[in-house]
Amino acid sequence: MEIHEERIRFLNDKQAKPEGQYVLYWMQQSQRAEWNQALEYAVQQSAEMDLGVLVVFGLMEDYPEVSLRHYAFMMEGLQEVASQLSERKIKFVLEKGSPEKVAVKYTKDAALVVCDRGYLRHQKQWRKHVAEKSPVKVVQLECDLVVPVETVSDKEKYAARTIRSKIHEHWKNFRQKVSIQKPGKRSLSLSFKGEDMDKATEWLADMNIAQTPGPVTGHFKGGTSEAKKRFRSWLENSYSRYDENRSQPHRDDVSFMSPYLHFGQISPLWILEQLKGRRGNNREAYEEELIVRRELAVNFVHYNADYDSFKCIQGWALETLEKHKSDERPKVFTKDQLENAETDDVYWNAAMRTMKETGYLHNHMRMYWGKQILLYTNTPQYAYKVALELNNKYFLDGRDCNSFANIVWLFGKHDRAWAERAIWGK
Ligand SMILES: Cc1cc2nc3c(=O)[nH]c(=O)nc-3n(C[C@H](O)[C@H](O)[C@H](O)COP(=O)(O)OP(=O)(O)OC[C@H]3O[C@@H](n4cnc5c(N)ncnc54)[C@H](O)[C@@H]3O)c2cc1C
Repeated sequence: MEIHEERIRFLNDKQAKPEGQYVLYWMQQSQRAEWNQALEYAVQQSAEMDLGVLVVFGLMEDYPEVSLRHYAFMMEGLQEVASQLSERKIKFVLEKGSPEKVAVKYTKDAALVVCDRGYLRHQKQWRKHVAEKSPVKVVQLECDLVVPVETVSDKEKYAARTIRSKIHEHWKNFRQKVSIQKPGKRSLSLSFKGEDMDKATEWLADMNIAQTPGPVTGHFKGGTSEAKKRFRSWLENSYSRYDENRSQPHRDDVSFMSPYLHFGQISPLWILEQLKGRRGNNREAYEEELIVRRELAVNFVHYNADYDSFKCIQGWALETLEKHKSDERPKVFTKDQLENAETDDVYWNAAMRTMKETGYLHNHMRMYWGKQILLYTNTPQYAYKVALELNNKYFLDGRDCNSFANIVWLFGKHDRAWAERAIWGK
């Protein structure tokens, strides 16, 4: 199996320790047992060292902005991971605790540590911590992007138009299939005991996390096989109308992949592989969203230290918001009124209710929902705060690079100036 070398990064300069008990894959971002470069790299290394692979996942109670809604979906995915790994005779341990601390505990007896990659501040800090504390070499693999972020650019890009050509220049070189490898040894007999995955629903209810909003099982089920099923059905039933209908919120011709991509339950490379042989507008439109827009969001979060703050809005966007900050708002609503869908706009209320009920909203309704918040609140700063909070609380795909990038897009980021209007400015 070939993994592009630019996906691989050594996070410390320590040595592997072949006398260790196993190769450790600390799973965090890429929560899947197939098309996962970090997992297969660990398996490949284990074969060379004649060892087994141990896959460990740390589940924390105070993950930023988390609720039962997010964790219930995530656990459905991890249950599938556990069972797929078990079929491959690979031991999986889910342990409660802060991910980096759980990981460090298992580095002690590891020959080598492998991890996947995440871009949010805390995800980067966790990897740095593990690299420092691990007694052995830590190798990170980029598994969730088509083109690694540094290959595309070494700085923040201004807009889709300034990143598009760079992504197109590289992405065909990064489409290697990720095939299943055979570990050096079976590891199921390793004596570590994690949480009982079959009882996840019970112990999740006892965890100290927000119990509301609750699961959205009637609308979305987590896991790789569910993502694949949905994608194949979209390909069969909606793909041919994607370009024409993707701006039509009353049509369901979008792929619904965002929750699965957010939790790393599906690989964007697997998705691209399914589109092989198809040409034309639909494919181009879908690639624009899945690769250009999504990876622009990662570029933003990776290079902009203020990605989760109003401070990241600058230039013409900030000027125009400042100029219009005292414009009279037709009617201002409190955060509670907004959250309770109590504005005087039936469409806005419907959008708010939909995200609360389903954990999802069509892209064009997200735009409408978000832009209106500027109208419904006293200041752009407060509008930003409310929009980000509600986005991350209710969407299954919330708390993602896409969340931060799209919420600031409401305030002009990655966009250009348009005809000037009251309150919104340009
Ligand atoms: C105000 C606002 C808030 C948003 N919040 C989020 C969020 O929290 N999490 C999130 O993942 N997306 C967010 N988006 C982007 C977009 O709305 C969703 O990714 C998309 O609706 C997901 O549905 P889908 O998978 O059916 O999309 P499809 O149209 O089928 O697109 C396929 C994939 O392309 C990517 N994509 C599509 N649109 C965008 C976009 N505008 N920017 C970046 N990537 C995109 C997503 O990964 C998506 O899964 C937001 C957009 C707006 C305007």
